[in-house]
Amino acid sequence: LSPVPSDIEISRAQSPKAVDVLAKEIGLLTDEIEIYGQTKAKVRLSLLERLKDQPDGKYVLVAGITPTPLGEGKSTVTIGLVQALTAHLNINSFACLRQPSQGPTFGVKGGAAGGGYAQVIPMEEFNLHLTGDIHAITAANNLLAAAIDARILHENTQSDKALYNRLVPVVNGVREFSAIQLARLRRLGINKTDPGTLTEEEISKFARLDIDPSTITWQRVVDTNDRFLRKITVGQAQFDIAVASEIMAILALTTSLQDMKERLGKMVVANDKKGEPVTAEDLGVTGALAVLMKDAIKPTLMQTLEGTPVFVHAGPFANIAHGNSSVLADKIALKLVGEKGFVVTEAGFGADIGMEKFFNIKCRASGLVPSVVVLVATVRALKMHGGGPNVTAGAPLKKEYTEENLQLVADGCCNLQKQIQITQLFGVPVVVALNVFKTDSPAEVDLVCEIAKQSGAFDAVPCNHWSAGGRGAVKLAQAVEKAANQKNSFKYLYNLELPIVEKIRIIAQKVYGAQDIELSPAAQSQVDRYTRQGFGNLPICMAKTHLSLSHQPERKGVPTGFILPISDVRASIGAGFIYPLVGTMSTMPGLPTRPCFYDIDLDPVTEQVKGLF
Ligand code: ADP
Repeated sequence: LSPVPSDIEISRAQSPKAVDVLAKEIGLLTDEIEIYGQTKAKVRLSLLERLKDQPDGKYVLVAGITPTPLGEGKSTVTIGLVQALTAHLNINSFACLRQPSQGPTFGVKGGAAGGGYAQVIPMEEFNLHLTGDIHAITAANNLLAAAIDARILHENTQSDKALYNRLVPVVNGVREFSAIQLARLRRLGINKTDPGTLTEEEISKFARLDIDPSTITWQRVVDTNDRFLRKITVGQAQFDIAVASEIMAILALTTSLQDMKERLGKMVVANDKKGEPVTAEDLGVTGALAVLMKDAIKPTLMQTLEGTPVFVHAGPFANIAHGNSSVLADKIALKLVGEKGFVVTEAGFGADIGMEKFFNIKCRASGLVPSVVVLVATVRALKMHGGGPNVTAGAPLKKEYTEENLQLVADGCCNLQKQIQITQLFGVPVVVALNVFKTDSPAEVDLVCEIAKQSGAFDAVPCNHWSAGGRGAVKLAQAVEKAANQKNSFKYLYNLELPIVEKIRIIAQKVYGAQDIELSPAAQSQVDRYTRQGFGNLPICMAKTHLSLSHQPERKGVPTGFILPISDVRASIGAGFIYPLVGTMSTMPGLPTRPCFYDIDLDPVTEQVKGLF
């Protein structure tokens, strides 16, 4: 329709096919799905075993230029592209997306189901609780936080012997170690299985974790932008948003239930008083965490407006986390589409952050090699990089953005060029998708595509999926299909064996264009701590603003000559990365003056949700 109705009106006007019908269409067996309502189903991991000999399809990553705060349409392009591949080119395809957090849904940006005629439906199901995975993460995270505090309290108030007697009680006349306790004994080098035979020294070694409260790094989480919680300190730790938590990262990076359990157990929460790491496993909570996460590990199947299958799974933010949907969803989808099919997955925010972490963290965890990167650009973001006025969510766009201005576009293409160069560092062909808005002039669109091709893109095409659905992304689908047959010389950006600081420097200089990095004393001492503890060989997950290539959100285009300040360094050992915080980056976002929730409402008669976008 023209004008294009609101996202929620479009979503509601289309009746999705029943999810069991969709599941059957894509080759899933009845016992491989667990249906939630009529439009969502969890998919069991047993499928990977059944399809293990099936060759993978082509793997496409959608990334973007440095965005405005409104988002430039990566989700919409991802969905438009699979709609075009499946419904218009007759090629099996699958989209893999992140589950949206309540932070942006009720805050500035809105949901993440795509938009216009390129959406996942029903969008209110997608954007709200889905199948409860983020709630499960929050529950698991906070159980571990409570376990740490309880343990410290009990160790502070009880003798070694009393602790031991409570940890290994006599039940029905029998005293036995649990499996988790036996594993801890083995880690401590105590090869005994009878609780009555431990010496006093062994009892105190076993019973006391001796957590040094000043070293606790485990944060509590909620999935709400709640600025006030930045000021709440529980012991030594504070609050993060749930989607920046280590358990979310584990969900996104894990490859099986066994692997998830191992990763949950390895999470380091603090040091003991001798400076050794204390893990979730030491606290005896691994099994309980795995139980809380046992359903969350299964990807959720939904569909696009045109009936193409979509996996929604995991939702780490790309600025303060690693920004990519799950390895498991991608792996299952790659098997389901078959050798000639395509799986399109999305990395959050600009290629400098979401895509860099996709390659260096996610591809390392999965072992998968993408065939093509689609780099999404918009005329409005390029004009902002060319010196256009600030773009603010909720405020009308200034005339620079609604009238033709070729100079601003040309000046702003430096950001597109730089993001193309960043993609080329990884040796994968790049297709630029110019997401066309109704205010873009044909001359502006041509100019961007021309500059993109001159800058080394394999191809650059305008896309109209937002206003026309899959039909509007057919040229993009054809370009992606061609690019996927190009030679691919994929490589990681850095060697894991390099020291932590060197790896951070490589990302800062080669990707962000920084002159150098500068670590605060706190950051340096954390680097020393993690190196000494044997965690120096992990990849790096930078927490940096998405609004600039630099650490300063107001610096648009391609900033140069800056020194990247590293204010703190955390470690997510179970997820498997070191997590430097750049500048004043906060891991708990706040709400704006007029958050999206002002427009969200429920009709009590029809039970319809209004105002989501
Ligand atoms: P990203 O994934 O890059 O953050 P989204 O795909 O979520 O961006 O799009 C951001 C917002 O912009 C959504 O509300 C979407 O509906 C809207 N949008 C995207 N493309 C267009 C377009 N071509 N015209 C108008 N609105 C668009």
